Amino acid sequence: MFKLRTTPLYLQILLAMVIGALSGYLFLIAGFPTLVTDWIKPWGTIFIRLLKLIAVPLVFVSLLKGVSQMGDMARLTRLGLKTISTYIITTLFAVSLGMAMVSLIRPGSFLPGEKTAALNQEYQNNLNDKVQQAGVLKETGPLQFVVDIIPENLAMAATDNSKMLQIIFVALVAGIALIAIGKEKAAPLMPVVDATNTVILKIVDFIMLYAPVGVFALMAGMVTDFAGDTSIFASLGMYALTVVLTLGIIAILVYPLAVQLLAGYPGKDFLKGIFPIQLLAFSTSSSAATLPFTMEHSQKKLGISEETASFVFPVGATINMDGTSAYQAVSILFIAQLYGIDLSVAQLISILLLTVLASIGTPGVPGGSIVMTVMVLSSVGIPTEGLVIILGIDRPLDMLRTVVNVSGDVFVAKLMDKKT
Ligand code: ASP
Repeated sequence: MFKLRTTPLYLQILLAMVIGALSGYLFLIAGFPTLVTDWIKPWGTIFIRLLKLIAVPLVFVSLLKGVSQMGDMARLTRLGLKTISTYIITTLFAVSLGMAMVSLIRPGSFLPGEKTAALNQEYQNNLNDKVQQAGVLKETGPLQFVVDIIPENLAMAATDNSKMLQIIFVALVAGIALIAIGKEKAAPLMPVVDATNTVILKIVDFIMLYAPVGVFALMAGMVTDFAGDTSIFASLGMYALTVVLTLGIIAILVYPLAVQLLAGYPGKDFLKGIFPIQLLAFSTSSSAATLPFTMEHSQKKLGISEETASFVFPVGATINMDGTSAYQAVSILFIAQLYGIDLSVAQLISILLLTVLASIGTPGVPGGSIVMTVMVLSSVGIPTEGLVIILGIDRPLDMLRTVVNVSGDVFVAKLMDKKT
């Protein structure tokens, strides 16, 4: 029998999505669409609000923790800088590949034109409201985006989810300062940072418990808005395919080839050695949960030194997420395509930078990047409601992106071993 408490969350979400779509459809053909809009949809809006609510504290604290965990300045500068720059380069590559794939396949274009037009109209209306509220359009010079990264006022930055880059900036500065004052002086603060991070992750857990209700309501609302149209599923299938292809290219082609070329280690052995780690990542959907095994197995089977393993993996599990970042790039551009939003070059660059930073701030737990995706969406002005479209099939894609996340960590460890 179906038992709610023992059913895994991802299944609950998937079921909620199907039941939500069906209910929306039934209410629609029975002639009660307003029942859905007035009484069901708000529960979905609450879900989106909860995700947005936790975004600022999550980004701030997990980045602060990630940076300050790096220990002392000397370590940060030596192995740290090398490792981190390699992480950033691989992440930039993953995001660019994701962006290229989604622009090539254009899964959003599988939605009929009139649906895109309707979604676009909704988006434009919201945008006009916002512009009117703001009163004037902001002056933008070529360097404005750099200026915009520095907040004038911390409290104001924290009140606006579209200013997430400012929060990231402050968290990075605070993290570096925490290292700079030295271990002894930072000691009283570290447990506080740790505990706060744990509390925030718990809140994320709570929100995810509510996810099935939220997804049910959002799906029902979406079907009613779409007047019972199911054409969205074709786009969704193409979107999943785009994610799978992108992740496959990185894990099966790029890493083995690059490890062979850059570290002189046979790509075939790399694939073989890493497979058990990938299996665990796939089944747990969590880089953090896989970490102990990644550390042990890669030393035993892939010949990675203990020094490299003890630094590169813990940092990597927190900040290096090639799978997540490629996935986020695909999702965000897919949602923009669905809403018929033409992104400017500046917006694309913002997405590139934000996705790299967001993947750094993503906790290595199942569904960790959902909140971060909301953050990037709202930062670049793409409707966050679009998230619900992809949420129902998030879990299998999460399993796959986690495989790429941990593979990326082992790949970088192999490179670092070669260099140091
Ligand atoms: N589940 C991923 C990980 O643990 C994070 C995510 O993309 O949601 O690596």
